[in-house]
Amino acid sequence: MYDVIIIGAGPAGLTSALYLGRANKNVLVLEAKSYGGQIVNASKIKNYPGVEEISGFDFSTNLYNQVKKLGIEIKYETVLRIKDDKTVVTNNEEYKAKAIIIATGSENRKLNIEKERDFVGKGVSYCATCDGNFYKEKIVAINGGGNTALEDALYLSDIAKEVYLIHRREEFRGENVYLDEIKKKDNIKLILNATISSINGDNKLESITIKDKDEQEQLIKIDGLFIAIGQEPKNEIFSNVVDLDSRGYIIATDDVHTKTKGIYVAGDARVKSLRQLTTAVSDGSIAATVAIKEMNTL
Ligand code: NAP
Repeated sequence: MYDVIIIGAGPAGLTSALYLGRANKNVLVLEAKSYGGQIVNASKIKNYPGVEEISGFDFSTNLYNQVKKLGIEIKYETVLRIKDDKTVVTNNEEYKAKAIIIATGSENRKLNIEKERDFVGKGVSYCATCDGNFYKEKIVAINGGGNTALEDALYLSDIAKEVYLIHRREEFRGENVYLDEIKKKDNIKLILNATISSINGDNKLESITIKDKDEQEQLIKIDGLFIAIGQEPKNEIFSNVVDLDSRGYIIATDDVHTKTKGIYVAGDARVKSLRQLTTAVSDGSIAATVAIKEMNTL
């Protein structure tokens, strides 16, 4: 029996672990893939207060080491569901806790077009910092208009010969500070008001077809396509113990409380107005603190 099981070892989950470990609680962190969550792929973090610049990998590794030093147990298993009695069922085992913090974040949104999934690793990627190096002096395209797409464009422009940044609207969702940098780059070409209608190639990506707002199609030869169109939650497996909104995010009352006593949510997985590193770690610390306060009543 653990005091708290944390599901997810991203910034929210690991921050909860840090707070709980420092409060001497018996904690298990369950993670399906590897620690760090989405931020591990950020090439540079420049908006974390008090840290001028750090890579997502270094940030995540520092946080992971900070947590491990407290003796927190982290197991790499996939959570399948939470039973009503707060037993967490994984692909491997069942674990019981007084409290559970769901910090599962979100996963890359897919374009959901033909060949997208088949060509992952064959020209299609969701992570510029992971795969960018394969495209030295090649032609790449990025799809999206948020901070991730803008950052990816800048990152790839230092590696690839030519970078197309394709966005479905005229205005970007990402911050101007990135856009100003992009405009200074000779090898980034903006394609606005356009969507990708097909991914082409026999066994690997060879080109994409884009469609503008007048439905005019154009074929662009590229070697790599980086899809950066945001994230989606993956909370359906928890729907017996938490309420979800229409987009699948967990509805939290009072920051981190879900509808089930002793089950809390932290980070991108919940309904919130700003999904950033700062708000994820904020949630993580609140969830842990609330769990500690309420532990005797659970
Ligand atoms: P995001 O802000 O949600 O942006 C997603 C972008 O993809 C939007 O421009 C959206 O277009 C577009 N899009 C969505 N679905 C699409 C589809 N089916 N086809 C074509 N385009 C589609 O996602 P994000 O850029 O991954 O960022 C996620 C969060 O992390 C944000 O809060 C962001 O600020 C934060 N972040 C911060 C940093 C940083 O501060 N250093 C770096 C990366 C990310 P519309 O604009 O038309 O909706």
